[in-house]
Amino acid sequence: MPKAQNTVDSLTPLTDQVAVVTGAARGIGEAIALRLARMGAAVLLTARDQPRLAGVKAEIEQQGGKAFIMPCDLTDAKAVAALGERVKKEHGRCDILVNNAGIGVLRKPLIELPVDEWDKMMHTNLRGPYLMIRSLAPLMIAANSGHIINISSLAGKNALPGGAAYSASKWGLNGLTYSVAEELRQYNVRASVIAPGSVNTHFGDANTTKNRNRMIQPDDVAKAVAMLVTQADTSFVSEILLRPTVKP
Ligand code: NAP
Repeated sequence: MPKAQNTVDSLTPLTDQVAVVTGAARGIGEAIALRLARMGAAVLLTARDQPRLAGVKAEIEQQGGKAFIMPCDLTDAKAVAALGERVKKEHGRCDILVNNAGIGVLRKPLIELPVDEWDKMMHTNLRGPYLMIRSLAPLMIAANSGHIINISSLAGKNALPGGAAYSASKWGLNGLTYSVAEELRQYNVRASVIAPGSVNTHFGDANTTKNRNRMIQPDDVAKAVAMLVTQADTSFVSEILLRPTVKP
Protein backbone atom coordinates (compact mmCIF):
# COMPACT_ATOMS: atom_id res chain seq x y z
CA MET A 1 0.00 0.00 0.00
CA PRO A 2 1.67 3.30 -1.03
CA LYS A 3 2.10 5.82 1.76
CA ALA A 4 -0.70 8.36 1.43
CA GLN A 5 0.41 11.98 1.17
CA ASN A 6 -0.87 14.42 3.74
CA THR A 7 0.80 17.75 3.27
CA VAL A 8 -0.50 21.27 2.93
CA ASP A 9 2.32 22.05 0.50
CA SER A 10 0.76 20.19 -2.42
CA LEU A 11 -2.23 21.32 -4.51
CA THR A 12 -3.50 17.74 -4.45
CA PRO A 13 -2.48 16.62 -0.95
CA LEU A 14 -4.96 13.73 -0.94
CA THR A 15 -3.56 11.91 -3.98
CA ASP A 16 -3.72 8.11 -3.42
CA GLN A 17 -6.23 8.58 -0.59
CA VAL A 18 -9.78 7.19 -0.51
CA ALA A 19 -12.52 9.29 1.10
CA VAL A 20 -16.03 8.07 1.92
CA VAL A 21 -18.65 10.83 2.20
CA THR A 22 -22.18 10.11 3.43
CA GLY A 23 -25.07 12.30 2.32
CA ALA A 24 -23.06 13.15 -0.78
CA ALA A 25 -26.14 13.47 -3.00
CA ARG A 26 -26.70 17.17 -2.26
CA GLY A 27 -26.03 20.09 0.09
CA ILE A 28 -23.02 20.00 2.39
CA GLY A 29 -22.05 16.42 1.48
CA GLU A 30 -21.92 17.27 -2.22
CA ALA A 31 -19.66 20.27 -1.49
CA ILE A 32 -17.35 18.13 0.68
CA ALA A 33 -17.13 15.45 -2.01
CA LEU A 34 -16.30 18.00 -4.72
CA ARG A 35 -13.59 19.63 -2.60
CA LEU A 36 -11.94 16.35 -1.49
CA ALA A 37 -11.91 15.20 -5.13
CA ARG A 38 -10.25 18.48 -6.20
CA MET A 39 -7.63 17.78 -3.51
CA GLY A 40 -6.83 14.49 -5.26
CA ALA A 41 -8.82 11.90 -3.26
CA ALA A 42 -10.86 9.15 -4.89
CA VAL A 43 -14.26 9.89 -3.37
CA LEU A 44 -16.85 7.21 -2.61
CA LEU A 45 -20.24 8.91 -2.65
CA THR A 46 -23.05 7.47 -0.61
CA ALA A 47 -26.73 8.36 0.01
CA ARG A 48 -30.05 6.76 -1.06
CA ASP A 49 -30.77 8.82 -4.19
CA GLN A 50 -28.80 7.03 -6.92
CA PRO A 51 -29.55 9.48 -9.80
CA ARG A 52 -28.38 12.44 -7.70
CA LEU A 53 -25.23 10.54 -6.69
CA ALA A 54 -24.59 9.86 -10.39
CA GLY A 55 -24.91 13.61 -11.04
CA VAL A 56 -22.31 14.44 -8.36
CA LYS A 57 -19.98 11.74 -9.73
CA ALA A 58 -20.32 13.24 -13.25
CA GLU A 59 -19.52 16.72 -11.89
CA ILE A 60 -16.39 15.43 -10.13
CA GLU A 61 -15.25 13.61 -13.27
CA GLN A 62 -15.85 16.71 -15.39
CA GLN A 63 -13.44 18.53 -13.06
CA GLY A 64 -10.85 15.78 -13.59
CA GLY A 65 -11.48 14.01 -10.28
CA LYS A 66 -12.22 10.40 -9.31
CA ALA A 67 -15.56 9.33 -7.84
CA PHE A 68 -17.52 6.11 -7.29
CA ILE A 69 -21.10 5.74 -6.14
CA MET A 70 -22.19 3.35 -3.41
CA PRO A 71 -25.90 3.89 -2.69
CA CYS A 72 -26.83 2.92 0.87
CA ASP A 73 -29.52 3.62 3.45
CA LEU A 74 -27.61 4.42 6.63
CA THR A 75 -30.46 3.22 8.80
CA ASP A 76 -29.97 -0.32 7.42
CA ALA A 77 -27.20 -1.99 9.46
CA LYS A 78 -26.72 -4.82 6.96
CA ALA A 79 -26.41 -2.38 4.05
CA VAL A 80 -23.76 -0.37 5.93
CA ALA A 81 -21.78 -3.54 6.72
CA ALA A 82 -21.99 -4.52 3.02
CA LEU A 83 -20.74 -1.05 2.05
CA GLY A 84 -17.70 -1.55 4.30
CA GLU A 85 -16.99 -4.92 2.65
CA ARG A 86 -17.30 -3.32 -0.79
CA VAL A 87 -14.89 -0.49 0.11
CA LYS A 88 -12.38 -3.08 1.37
CA LYS A 89 -12.72 -5.30 -1.70
CA GLU A 90 -12.77 -2.60 -4.39
CA HIS A 91 -10.45 0.02 -2.85
CA GLY A 92 -8.56 -1.74 -0.04
CA ARG A 93 -8.40 1.36 2.12
CA CYS A 94 -10.34 4.22 3.67
CA ASP A 95 -8.25 7.23 4.61
CA ILE A 96 -11.09 9.66 5.30
CA LEU A 97 -14.65 9.04 6.46
CA VAL A 98 -17.01 12.02 6.56
CA ASN A 99 -20.24 11.21 8.39
CA ASN A 100 -22.33 14.03 6.98
CA ALA A 101 -25.78 12.54 6.24
CA GLY A 102 -28.45 13.79 8.59
CA ILE A 103 -32.09 14.72 8.83
CA GLY A 104 -33.92 17.23 11.00
CA VAL A 105 -37.49 17.73 12.07
CA LEU A 106 -37.52 21.33 13.24
CA ARG A 107 -40.28 23.62 14.50
CA LYS A 108 -42.16 20.84 16.31
CA PRO A 109 -42.28 20.74 20.15
CA LEU A 110 -40.95 17.49 21.59
CA ILE A 111 -44.31 16.49 23.06
CA GLU A 112 -45.83 16.62 19.57
CA LEU A 113 -43.05 14.64 17.90
CA PRO A 114 -44.24 11.19 16.77
CA VAL A 115 -42.12 8.30 18.08
CA ASP A 116 -41.24 7.10 14.56
CA GLU A 117 -39.81 10.56 13.72
CA TRP A 118 -37.66 10.46 16.89
CA ASP A 119 -36.43 6.98 15.88
CA LYS A 120 -35.70 8.02 12.29
CA MET A 121 -33.63 11.03 13.41
CA MET A 122 -31.62 9.01 15.96
CA HIS A 123 -31.10 6.19 13.46
CA THR A 124 -29.86 8.53 10.75
CA ASN A 125 -27.92 11.13 12.76
CA LEU A 126 -26.40 9.01 15.56
CA ARG A 127 -26.71 5.28 14.83
CA GLY A 128 -25.69 5.90 11.18
CA PRO A 129 -22.24 7.34 12.08
CA TYR A 130 -21.77 4.52 14.62
CA LEU A 131 -22.50 1.91 11.92
CA MET A 132 -20.21 3.64 9.41
CA ILE A 133 -17.34 3.85 11.91
CA ARG A 134 -17.89 0.19 12.86
CA SER A 135 -17.77 -0.71 9.19
CA LEU A 136 -14.77 1.38 8.08
CA ALA A 137 -12.52 2.10 11.09
CA PRO A 138 -11.01 -1.44 10.91
CA LEU A 139 -9.47 -0.45 7.54
CA MET A 140 -7.96 2.64 9.17
CA ILE A 141 -6.68 0.64 12.15
CA ALA A 142 -5.06 -1.85 9.75
CA ALA A 143 -3.37 1.03 7.91
CA ASN A 144 -2.40 2.77 11.18
CA SER A 145 -3.79 5.98 9.69
CA GLY A 146 -7.10 7.70 9.05
CA HIS A 147 -9.41 10.57 9.79
CA ILE A 148 -13.08 10.45 10.76
CA ILE A 149 -15.03 13.70 10.55
CA ASN A 150 -18.56 13.90 11.90
CA ILE A 151 -20.83 16.75 10.84
CA SER A 152 -22.70 17.85 13.92
CA SER A 153 -24.40 21.22 14.44
CA LEU A 154 -24.40 24.22 16.77
CA ALA A 155 -27.71 22.63 17.83
CA GLY A 156 -25.45 19.99 19.39
CA LYS A 157 -23.85 22.66 21.59
CA ASN A 158 -26.94 24.74 22.41
CA ALA A 159 -30.63 24.34 23.20
CA LEU A 160 -32.90 24.20 20.15
CA PRO A 161 -36.56 24.71 21.10
CA GLY A 162 -38.71 23.02 18.43
CA GLY A 163 -35.85 20.71 17.55
CA ALA A 164 -35.15 18.83 20.79
CA ALA A 165 -34.70 15.41 19.18
CA TYR A 166 -32.45 16.83 16.43
CA SER A 167 -30.44 18.68 19.07
CA ALA A 168 -30.19 15.50 21.21
CA SER A 169 -28.95 13.49 18.21
CA LYS A 170 -26.18 16.05 17.60
CA TRP A 171 -25.21 16.32 21.33
CA GLY A 172 -24.97 12.53 21.15
CA LEU A 173 -22.84 12.69 18.01
CA ASN A 174 -20.41 15.03 19.77
CA GLY A 175 -20.09 12.58 22.69
CA LEU A 176 -19.63 9.69 20.29
CA THR A 177 -16.91 11.60 18.42
CA TYR A 178 -14.91 12.64 21.49
CA SER A 179 -15.10 9.12 22.94
CA VAL A 180 -14.25 7.18 19.78
CA ALA A 181 -11.40 9.65 19.19
CA GLU A 182 -9.89 8.47 22.50
CA GLU A 183 -10.41 4.82 21.51
CA LEU A 184 -8.77 5.24 18.08
CA ARG A 185 -5.85 7.58 18.72
CA GLN A 186 -3.65 4.62 19.78
CA TYR A 187 -3.97 3.48 16.14
CA ASN A 188 -3.02 6.90 14.74
CA VAL A 189 -6.65 7.42 13.68
CA ARG A 190 -8.17 10.83 14.40
CA ALA A 191 -11.83 11.71 14.93
CA SER A 192 -13.06 15.31 14.77
CA VAL A 193 -16.40 17.05 14.77
CA ILE A 194 -17.56 20.11 12.83
CA ALA A 195 -20.55 21.97 14.27
CA PRO A 196 -21.93 24.55 11.85
CA GLY A 197 -24.71 27.06 12.39
CA SER A 198 -27.43 27.31 9.70
CA VAL A 199 -26.06 26.42 6.27
CA ASN A 200 -27.56 27.51 2.93
CA THR A 201 -29.09 24.17 1.88
CA HIS A 202 -32.62 22.74 1.76
CA PHE A 203 -32.01 20.85 5.03
CA GLY A 204 -35.21 20.07 6.93
CA ASP A 205 -37.05 21.83 4.07
CA ALA A 206 -35.83 25.02 5.73
CA ASN A 207 -38.18 27.79 4.74
CA THR A 208 -35.94 30.42 6.22
CA THR A 209 -36.39 34.18 6.29
CA LYS A 210 -32.60 34.52 6.71
CA ASN A 211 -30.43 36.31 4.13
CA ARG A 212 -29.17 33.23 2.26
CA ASN A 213 -26.10 35.03 0.89
CA ARG A 214 -24.91 35.72 4.42
CA MET A 215 -25.53 32.19 5.67
CA ILE A 216 -22.70 29.67 5.98
CA GLN A 217 -22.33 28.15 2.50
CA PRO A 218 -21.92 24.37 1.92
CA ASP A 219 -18.37 24.90 0.62
CA ASP A 220 -17.46 26.73 3.86
CA VAL A 221 -18.04 23.43 5.67
CA ALA A 222 -16.05 21.64 2.95
CA LYS A 223 -13.15 24.06 3.57
CA ALA A 224 -13.21 23.13 7.27
CA VAL A 225 -13.04 19.44 6.26
CA ALA A 226 -10.11 20.24 3.93
CA MET A 227 -8.31 21.90 6.82
CA LEU A 228 -8.85 18.91 9.11
CA VAL A 229 -7.48 16.39 6.62
CA THR A 230 -4.30 18.39 5.92
CA GLN A 231 -3.12 18.91 9.48
CA ALA A 232 0.35 18.15 10.75
CA ASP A 233 0.83 14.46 11.49
CA THR A 234 1.60 15.07 15.15
CA SER A 235 -1.56 16.89 16.27
CA PHE A 236 -5.20 17.42 15.37
CA VAL A 237 -8.11 19.80 15.85
CA SER A 238 -10.86 17.83 17.53
CA GLU A 239 -13.75 20.29 17.18
CA ILE A 240 -14.68 23.17 14.89
CA LEU A 241 -17.58 25.51 15.64
CA LEU A 242 -18.51 27.28 12.39
CA ARG A 243 -20.46 30.54 12.45
CA PRO A 244 -21.48 33.02 9.73
CA THR A 245 -19.22 36.07 9.63
CA VAL A 246 -22.20 38.47 9.63
CA LYS A 247 -25.47 37.23 11.19
CA PRO A 248 -27.85 36.46 8.30
P1 NAP B 1 -29.51 17.93 2.98
O1 NAP B 1 -29.29 18.87 1.86
O2 NAP B 1 -30.90 17.59 3.40
O3 NAP B 1 -28.71 16.57 2.65
C1 NAP B 1 -28.76 15.47 3.51
C2 NAP B 1 -28.06 14.30 2.87
O4 NAP B 1 -28.18 13.16 3.75
C3 NAP B 1 -28.65 13.90 1.53
O5 NAP B 1 -27.62 13.61 0.62
C4 NAP B 1 -29.45 12.64 1.87
O6 NAP B 1 -29.47 11.81 0.71
C5 NAP B 1 -28.63 12.03 3.00
N1 NAP B 1 -29.42 11.13 3.83
C6 NAP B 1 -30.50 11.43 4.59
N2 NAP B 1 -30.99 10.31 5.16
C7 NAP B 1 -30.20 9.29 4.74
C8 NAP B 1 -30.21 7.87 4.97
N3 NAP B 1 -31.15 7.27 5.73
N4 NAP B 1 -29.26 7.12 4.39
C9 NAP B 1 -28.31 7.69 3.61
N5 NAP B 1 -28.25 9.01 3.36
C10 NAP B 1 -29.19 9.80 3.91
O7 NAP B 1 -28.78 18.44 4.32
P2 NAP B 1 -27.45 19.32 4.55
O8 NAP B 1 -27.86 20.69 4.89
O9 NAP B 1 -26.49 19.10 3.45
O10 NAP B 1 -26.94 18.66 5.92
C11 NAP B 1 -25.86 17.74 5.98
C12 NAP B 1 -25.46 17.57 7.44
O11 NAP B 1 -25.15 18.83 8.03
C13 NAP B 1 -26.57 16.96 8.34
O12 NAP B 1 -25.99 16.03 9.21
C14 NAP B 1 -27.09 18.16 9.11
O13 NAP B 1 -27.61 17.77 10.37
C15 NAP B 1 -25.84 19.00 9.25
N6 NAP B 1 -26.10 20.42 9.45
C16 NAP B 1 -26.86 21.12 8.56
C17 NAP B 1 -27.11 22.47 8.78
C18 NAP B 1 -27.96 23.27 7.85
O14 NAP B 1 -28.46 24.35 8.27
N7 NAP B 1 -28.13 22.87 6.60
C19 NAP B 1 -26.56 23.11 9.92
C20 NAP B 1 -25.77 22.37 10.80
C21 NAP B 1 -25.54 21.02 10.55
P3 NAP B 1 -30.69 10.81 0.32
O15 NAP B 1 -31.97 11.52 0.69
O16 NAP B 1 -30.49 10.57 -1.13
O17 NAP B 1 -30.45 9.57 1.12
